[in-house]
Amino acid sequence: MLSNLATRDVETLIHPYTNLDAHRANGPLVLERGQGVHVYDTDGRPYIEGMAGLWCTALGYSNAELVEAAAAQMGRLPFSHLFSGRSHDPAIELAEVLKELMPIPTSKVFFTSSGSEANDTQVKLAWYYNNALGRRAKKKIIGRSRGYHGVTVATASLTGLQANHADWDLPLPGFLHTACPHHYRFAEAGESEEAFSARLADELEQMILREDPDTVAAFIAEPVMGAGGAIVPPRGYFQAIQTVLARYDVRFIADEVICGFGRLGTWFGSEALGMAPQTLSFAKAVTSGYVPLGGITVDEPLYAAMVDQSAKLGTFGHGTTYSGHPVACAVALKAIEIYRRDRIVEGAAEKAPHFQARLARLAEHDIVGEARGIGLIGGLEIVADKRTKAQYDPKAGVAARCVAFAQAEGLIVRFLTGDRVAVCPPLIIAPDEIDALFDRLTRALDRTRDWIR
Ligand code: PLP
Repeated sequence: MLSNLATRDVETLIHPYTNLDAHRANGPLVLERGQGVHVYDTDGRPYIEGMAGLWCTALGYSNAELVEAAAAQMGRLPFSHLFSGRSHDPAIELAEVLKELMPIPTSKVFFTSSGSEANDTQVKLAWYYNNALGRRAKKKIIGRSRGYHGVTVATASLTGLQANHADWDLPLPGFLHTACPHHYRFAEAGESEEAFSARLADELEQMILREDPDTVAAFIAEPVMGAGGAIVPPRGYFQAIQTVLARYDVRFIADEVICGFGRLGTWFGSEALGMAPQTLSFAKAVTSGYVPLGGITVDEPLYAAMVDQSAKLGTFGHGTTYSGHPVACAVALKAIEIYRRDRIVEGAAEKAPHFQARLARLAEHDIVGEARGIGLIGGLEIVADKRTKAQYDPKAGVAARCVAFAQAEGLIVRFLTGDRVAVCPPLIIAPDEIDALFDRLTRALDRTRDWIR
């Protein structure tokens, strides 16, 4: 029997990324409040939020300073925009702070309200830039199979997941996908990580040559793939890929929407993985997920071209009502102040070996083929046969069942395509909470194994 709230939910709401058919029978998990790394449902049951919401609540729940920053800005200037040269101090100050933090040369910052809008802006600017330079054919964008970059028409096209393409009439022409860098799944027998990286870089180069380098504008990649399965790239991957991109003057866009702001134990994932992109997208943890904010960095050559375009066209014809919303900027400023003051990023790096050791132990479980991560993010892949890596029939929904068992154990984690389960807790998680998280996940895997047999 669904509770009153659950019944009302089923009667009224469309849920993103939910099996809408199954939802009618199962109903929602209705959460009411959160504190630290825990969230509580309407019956008062606590759960460890092992996904930091959607990879975003780095500072956990009910952080009083973030709440206060939002309330203060609401009381002072709840809305103002950045159109037509209008400005406000939270946006100016945040842009300054972000410029200073960025791991890559950054001339300016452009704000959006989400990761999708940030990456959509990246696509448009890659086109706009090449038009400004008179390279009108250089427009194709390369993403990766299993990459995730959002849901707008362009960013769902960048995304390399079937659910974002099938029956959506996507990807649009001009969006290509190169191979997924998942060594466990796609390396050949005996192929080292380095050799696998070299092979993938070669495949990318062949794709660029096949398409004609004069038609390829940009390549986009997450440092660690999130929604595609919490996949850490093999050793040497980005170094090999970057050599190819530089050879053909292809812009490199880092999608730091998950990895930005400490997830890998460094401020940005690019630093942890040796990436040197021309630009990056951020969102999520920039405000610890408390209010929507995203954005991109603009390098000096791009900025110069944008200024020239404005002189020619009369305006920079892009931006949304909420680009640089003052409340979002004020919360982001406070979040970054806390990251710095409380050494949150360093703390993530210090806790990472313990987190990764507990994650790695799950690889010994009967139904786990791989358990791997970096920093405070990780994923595991459930397999039917550890030796052959054979998977269960996707219709059996084994990872979904594991996630349901985890929920019954008081842990929220997420299942992803390919029977993968992702773990990405708030960065403030304490060592004993890391143990509780993995104890619960182990019990969920045990229950999944017993359910299968
Ligand atoms: N890029 C990455 C790497 C993401 O993980 C996500 C969302 O999970 C997005 C982009 C899209 O962000 P949003 O859902 O805020 O539009």
